Amino acid sequence: MKASDSIRTIKGIGEKSGKLFGKLGITTVEELLAFYPREYDLFTAIQPVSSVREGETVILEGSFATRPKMASVRNLKIISCMFRDSTGQILVSWFNMPYLMRSLKMGMRYILRGRIVRKNGVLQMAQPKLLTKEEYANQTGKLSPVYPLTAGLTNHAVAKAMAIALKECEAESDFLPLEVRKGYGLQSHRKAVQMIHFPDSKESYAKARRRLVFEEFFLFSLALRQVREKKHSVVSPYCLKKQEKVKKLLCSLPYSLTSGQEKAWEEIQEDLQSGYVMNRLVQGDVGSGKTVLAMLSLLFAAENGYQGAIMVPTEVLAKQHYEEFQEFLEPFGIKVVLLTGSMTAAQKRETCSLIEHHQADVIVGTHALIQEKVTYANLALVVTDEQHRFGVRQREQFSAKGEAVHMLVMSATPIPRTLAIILYGDLDVSVIDVLPSERLPIKNCAVDTNYRPQAYRFMEKQVREGHQVYIICPMVEESESSEAENVMDYTNTLREALPPSIHVEYLHGKMRPALKNEIMESFASGKIDILVSTTVIEVGINVPNATVMMIENAERFGLAQLHQLRGRVGRGKAQSYCIFMAGNPSKETMERLRILESSNDGFYVARQDLKLRGPGDLFGIRQSGDLLFGLADIYQDAEELQQANEAACSLERRDILLLCKKHEALRKKMEQYTGEEIIM
Ligand code: ADP
Ligand code: MG
Repeated sequence: MKASDSIRTIKGIGEKSGKLFGKLGITTVEELLAFYPREYDLFTAIQPVSSVREGETVILEGSFATRPKMASVRNLKIISCMFRDSTGQILVSWFNMPYLMRSLKMGMRYILRGRIVRKNGVLQMAQPKLLTKEEYANQTGKLSPVYPLTAGLTNHAVAKAMAIALKECEAESDFLPLEVRKGYGLQSHRKAVQMIHFPDSKESYAKARRRLVFEEFFLFSLALRQVREKKHSVVSPYCLKKQEKVKKLLCSLPYSLTSGQEKAWEEIQEDLQSGYVMNRLVQGDVGSGKTVLAMLSLLFAAENGYQGAIMVPTEVLAKQHYEEFQEFLEPFGIKVVLLTGSMTAAQKRETCSLIEHHQADVIVGTHALIQEKVTYANLALVVTDEQHRFGVRQREQFSAKGEAVHMLVMSATPIPRTLAIILYGDLDVSVIDVLPSERLPIKNCAVDTNYRPQAYRFMEKQVREGHQVYIICPMVEESESSEAENVMDYTNTLREALPPSIHVEYLHGKMRPALKNEIMESFASGKIDILVSTTVIEVGINVPNATVMMIENAERFGLAQLHQLRGRVGRGKAQSYCIFMAGNPSKETMERLRILESSNDGFYVARQDLKLRGPGDLFGIRQSGDLLFGLADIYQDAEELQQANEAACSLERRDILLLCKKHEALRKKMEQYTGEEIIM
């Protein structure tokens, strides 16, 4: 079996499961091997019933306290009974496994393993696995991989295919040059892949992860170097001079720019008038006001007869920017259009035609903007918002839509400048380091679930005062569908807990884009009082009237992500509040969350979190939630990032074209990575 073979060559993968793997982006053996576990399941020791907590996966040993009964609810068959040991008892239930009725016996001892959940206010173990004594003994202390799945594909099926692929696929030569591996004490790629899927200990997992993180950063850093080489001082064919409309827009804004915005705007203007192509990153914490800089730049381009486009990661955000730009720019005779994936084919055709014939000046959209079908008439400026949600490659594809176009990139990822310079090595950096002065700092509190009734009353009061509320629920179960259920269940419970006059709605990632937009719009226009959502609202949404953010199971998020979420409130003049609710209020959890209580500064938060967790925390939650890297995390792995960058830099000095025989594997890998041949 070769790495490039189709996954169908793996025994047990037929047409149907092949398609399911395809949904996960896996069509070759190589892609399968690069599909890393999301987390690991650690078989812990048997726990007393009395000590279980919501959200944990535990193993219990005992017997049934009541006879298992089967009930039919709608089209579900539910078996339930009480299970006990010497310390207490707990409800257990199984869905749609009627055949279990025959094997569950009173008076027998069982070992059950399952997740503790709360349904209708009662703790229970849902869908536990029955373990034999041998299974328990064999598995305890071991790590088994948990993969991010798609409906129809089980974790077992992925793990099985992985084991076969690891056994049968021929290893290719390692693309990391030997001297780099030696210099940084890294194991081989093959060994690392083996151990990332099936680690035999925490130590071997750590070693494997380090190697894979390093190679991710290394490839990234090399690719960035090539981009930068190509970009160095390119003469710009676009002449941006006229500024009347830009000046008028500045006067008509309902606020004046902060010192940070003003400085960034000056730097942008200088770039745009320099005669060279602009490559600039504007980095500013959430709420620092980056959108207006994009708007000014786009107007500047349009006023001088060119087109400008802005790409954002979500449909909702695209819509929001579109409306805002329309409101501010159309009075100047600027035509703004929207292009997103969810539009009908006819709408897309019409919009594309406007773009192609330069009847549109400012184009707002999602990934749809970089699709082949879109041709721009006279594109001079591209802006990427929330760059941390895009890869370098997408950013480059976007600028390739025009000829030597100016590029403005905006990001809120709170990182220290030293890291920014590595991660955005091909760009000049402007930092907005102040928030608009009229803002009151957000008041934060980290609490446990006992506080929930009080929190609800507080929200009720805020709603009565005319404000709005966000509640975030994390994805609790593995499967996709339950992400939705979770939000819906929560919404139902909340509706019961609040007076009917309060309008509660929910939002999650699996909803149809049109419906998502509709809900977001109703929320933005104040028709919805409380929005229960998954993290889909994390990116960029701006509803200044929302003053309360409550995050359930806050312990499941990285602090940097919690900080991003918190940035959805505190965007208007009113006092805003953020409630971090810990489902598992352990000392460590509360200590981490307290960091958010003590500061509203994203840079500080990310740094403190790292310090607290230390380098030993291998199973920590991914910090950033950014999609830029598969495994690597820019906060947790800052050291590897520095090292990989150093290694890439030194390699570049010795063999920039990767022409040495010993760099052949790397050259191939790079071509795959950047999607193009290495020619400069
Ligand atoms: P982000 O940097 O997170 O993208 P936005 O650009 O969405 O932030 O701005 C957040 C809010 O702040 C918006 O409602 C925007 O109108 C407002 N805003 C931007 N600049 C200023 C300013 N200088 N003074 C007051 N409010 C501002
Ligand atoms: Mg923004």
